[in-house]
Amino acid sequence: MIQLTTATAIENAITKARTVKPRVRVNCFGSYTVTNKQTGATYSVECLKRDGKRFASCTCRAGELRKACYHVAAAVAAHIQLATEQAAH
Ligand SMILES: [Zn+2]
Repeated sequence: MIQLTTATAIENAITKARTVKPRVRVNCFGSYTVTNKQTGATYSVECLKRDGKRFASCTCRAGELRKACYHVAAAVAAHIQLATEQAAH
């Protein structure tokens, strides 16, 4: 699990996500499949909130080492958008 603190902490991952532009598929709220369109590599990202803190996990190598990867950054962007849409209803 990677704790998501501030946007600055995952800034590098966000920058990479903007460059790679992976495809994010929503499985359900909090569960995403991120695909690198260039390599076809697919990883599962989970986002959850516990004790008011946001966490994410990714099945890629960096994610297993608890490093914020661009898969997490891409999924978190989709997650926040989804949460915002849900809150608006
Ligand atoms: Zn990853």
